[in-house]
Amino acid sequence: MTVRHLIFLLGDQLDEQSSALRDADPARDQVLMVEALEESTHVRSHKQRAALFLSAMRHFAASLRERGWTVHYRALDEYGDASLATGLQAAIRELKPQAVIGVEPGDLRVRSQIEAALPAGLPFEWREDTHFLCSARKFALWAGRSKQLRMEFFYRQMRRDYGILMDGSEPVGGQWNFDADNRSAFGKKGPQDLPTPPAFAPDAITCEVLALVEARFADHPGQLSDFRWPVTRTQALQALDDFIAHRLPHFGQHQDAMWSGMPFGWHALLSSSLNLKLLSPLEVVRAAERAWRERALDLASVEGFIRQVLGWREFMRGVYFLDMPGLKQANHLSHQRNLPQWYWSGETRMNCMRQCIGQTLEHGYAHHIQRLMVTGMFGVLAQIKPQQLCDWYLGVYIDAVEWVELPNTAGMALFATGARFTSKPYVASGAYVKKMSNYCQGCSYQPERRTGDTACPLTTLYWHFLKTHEVDLASNPRTALMVKNLQRIDGQELAAIGVRARTLLDDLDSL
Ligand SMILES: Cc1cc2nc3c(=O)[nH]c(=O)nc-3n(C[C@H](O)[C@H](O)[C@H](O)COP(=O)(O)OP(=O)(O)OC[C@H]3O[C@@H](n4cnc5c(N)ncnc54)[C@H](O)[C@@H]3O)c2cc1C
Ligand code: SF4
Repeated sequence: MTVRHLIFLLGDQLDEQSSALRDADPARDQVLMVEALEESTHVRSHKQRAALFLSAMRHFAASLRERGWTVHYRALDEYGDASLATGLQAAIRELKPQAVIGVEPGDLRVRSQIEAALPAGLPFEWREDTHFLCSARKFALWAGRSKQLRMEFFYRQMRRDYGILMDGSEPVGGQWNFDADNRSAFGKKGPQDLPTPPAFAPDAITCEVLALVEARFADHPGQLSDFRWPVTRTQALQALDDFIAHRLPHFGQHQDAMWSGMPFGWHALLSSSLNLKLLSPLEVVRAAERAWRERALDLASVEGFIRQVLGWREFMRGVYFLDMPGLKQANHLSHQRNLPQWYWSGETRMNCMRQCIGQTLEHGYAHHIQRLMVTGMFGVLAQIKPQQLCDWYLGVYIDAVEWVELPNTAGMALFATGARFTSKPYVASGAYVKKMSNYCQGCSYQPERRTGDTACPLTTLYWHFLKTHEVDLASNPRTALMVKNLQRIDGQELAAIGVRARTLLDDLDSL
């Protein structure tokens, strides 16, 4: 039978409402899915990330078949395709389709690879990824020629466009943003009534994939014993219901707090399901809004959560397509140091890093503040080359896809694009970590010390960072106060901070 359209679906395009399937005919069109080795190895993927993608893809292929689709599924252990390109070329040779259709990838590397692999003359169409609520084109129109992009204004526009948390033309509660009410620390007693998020036990398909990943990617970071992530839309919907019922009510309050042995807290744990497209952002946002209206939940929590999905997530994607390919090479601060080896093992005396990297290796997960204000902040203070840290983030998190990982890491955490879309570098001393967690209690270093062998490396490097960038930071109203505090330190101590900082920077592996 002649294949009219070969519909090529990628591992993070598991969307039942995919634009590539919308007008397709199962009698004439067929689906292609490829498990490509390169997608787990171009950066060394955490074992759970590799397993999540493969298992979710296999489940999605099975559900398409149940819906009457012919799916050509090129499994890694059967076909061993080196890349998406070689898998696609082999399928085209075998099936001789009249045309190929794909959904725009969220990684421009993949897009150019696929385009280069297509035989000359074969009609091909990229369809827009309609999972997202703001297309790249609409975002570019919103951004216009602005040199600086601010999420808050984009978010307000999205709230108006989709009528989320609106009271006519005004935001409900009279404010767009309730952040000031969110984000408190736990206090001395630590987290109370900690919720237990659902864990989805591996079924036969996932067990097969876990064995495959253990065999093929034995030397990759992370471990598989606690694989818990949703791999089907049904499971993703259960995860969403559970979050809305049990954790959303207190989400905002504990959003930034960290605690040893608390990997998940009140967070949604929905990023991987969203990024695989098992959930749509609109259904997630509407579910949160509905819960607020029906159960009179705390508006600060609900608004804080909705801002992440409707605001930050869509904003980051817009920035990615607007600022690539430059974003990939961005290095505003000219940082050139190598990533310490312990990012791959967690074996460091800095307890905050040990905790955040440790849970990352265990679960493929860390929450936003752990990524931004611990592993990311160390990167900027320790002058790590942005591209090395970007590869680390792309490898180790179960939700990592380049369109969302790269702007978050290079742009937000590492200030590699300067003030393009964050108004200041996210830097703080160990005092911030001490305030927001109990990490400092179990640490070899002391957060308040700036000099000496037991000085907290974050603290020493923070003051060194301020001194190095004093002129720029003094002229920014959001960082001017930091510089004023710097200028209170006497010259002798400043010199000692400089000496200690250089010692640390020259031997980051030994921290
Ligand atoms: C350095 C760094 C790298 C990151 N890399 C990724 C990544 O590869 N993939 C990814 O999905 N997120 C990334 N984030 C954003 C954020 O940390 C994760 O989305 C979040 O921790 C996922 O956990 P959760 O589902 O429990 O989210 P919650 O904290 O409960 O938030 C709810 C949802 O909001 C969305 N969201 C929240 N913050 C952001 C943000 N800054 N950008 C985009 N979406 C956001 C996510 O979809 C998330 O599921 C990164 C952040 C930083 C600072
Ligand atoms: S003392 Fe410094 S290095 Fe140790 S946990 Fe606290 S912030 Fe981290």
